[in-house]
Amino acid sequence: MNTQEFLAFIKESTSPYHTVMAAEKILKAAKFQELVWGEPWKLKAGGAYFVSVFGSALMAFRIGKKKGMLRIAAAHTDFPGFRIKPSPEIKEGGCVMLNVEPYGGLIQSSWLDRPLSLAGSVALRGEDAFHPVTRFVDFGRPLVTIPRLAIHMNRKVNEGETLNRQTELLPIAALNGEEISETFFLEQLAKELGCSAEEILSYDMTVYSCEEPCVLGFEEEFISAPRLDNLTSVKACVDALLDARTECGTAVAALFDNEEVGSRTKQGANSSLLDELLRKVYESLGREEERTRDIAQGFLLSVDVAHGLHPNYMGKADPTNRPKLGEGFAIKQAASQAYVGDAEAQAVVKALADEAFAPYQTYVNRSDIPGGSTLGSMVSANLCLRGQDIGVPILAMHSAREFMAAADQEALTDLITKFFA
Ligand SMILES: [Zn+2]
Repeated sequence: MNTQEFLAFIKESTSPYHTVMAAEKILKAAKFQELVWGEPWKLKAGGAYFVSVFGSALMAFRIGKKKGMLRIAAAHTDFPGFRIKPSPEIKEGGCVMLNVEPYGGLIQSSWLDRPLSLAGSVALRGEDAFHPVTRFVDFGRPLVTIPRLAIHMNRKVNEGETLNRQTELLPIAALNGEEISETFFLEQLAKELGCSAEEILSYDMTVYSCEEPCVLGFEEEFISAPRLDNLTSVKACVDALLDARTECGTAVAALFDNEEVGSRTKQGANSSLLDELLRKVYESLGREEERTRDIAQGFLLSVDVAHGLHPNYMGKADPTNRPKLGEGFAIKQAASQAYVGDAEAQAVVKALADEAFAPYQTYVNRSDIPGGSTLGSMVSANLCLRGQDIGVPILAMHSAREFMAAADQEALTDLITKFFA
């Protein structure tokens, strides 16, 4: 695992679409063959392929020369933040703000006073109504910011603050001069894309933190970066698929969108996407009758970040299952089944980790603090597939900037590489 490469990947992955494009670039360079989702496929044993699904989900896979186990590692391409609403211009107090909608469970205050930029997809008028032209855009430079109210006007700010999601989180984008028109934002998009504002019919634009990711610590043992949830997992899945030779069976890196808002979308994990992918793969190989057996004997790794033990908040962690930064990836467990897994699935992961010399720890919620959930349980239930939730322990989860130990990325990548091998 090359830390600088990982930081560069984070810098490029500024919206779910851009995460997919950054992953595609790596796969293309490694000679993976690109497929089209709606077309028939002609796959071969020994081949390596990828297919983008609706732009923000990506399925990449290797088919071994020999038959063998089906192995899937799944992660998500989206992250908490803001989306720009249509007609977003709000003019107030000499400034132009952009009307935004929070996306996912973000820590609101962490987005204040930071340089922010915009990235996403823009739909232009096409040849006919059903075929708009999709263009991707990343402004890639500081454009907007959400300034905090001065302490002098909010003396209780250090006693905890609540922020109104509609009125107090509007990013400032410009000074409101005479030249600012009613379609200011469309004009900015058009300028960046080199088209006219009239051609733009709609957009999916994400507000992202454009602060540089960095290594940190006296021994450079940490990584401080935006979007570690879940780019740690995306990068580990892609790296592992590149490194593993996969002589037998099929290895799939399944990168879904919309985990932060429940996964129930056509490009999310709680859809028929993976089922359809496997159907297409087995059909193309002429192995339809083996599909059910392979799924029954297959295995899923659901890869998403875990809560690391926060040294300033020891009491917030479980007394005995509290992953420490730098001591390996976490195997996640919840009696509620918010995380996928059981004794057998954990045994599989632990044995693989031992073979890979990848250190691991276990994470369980404190019983009086409900944790989060992720996509593993949905994929496992929809496909009727065994699986286990794992991930890198991080601090500041869902902050605009998150924190982890660099060594844990290596442990995670080693484990998934062994899984795919
Ligand atoms: Zn996540």
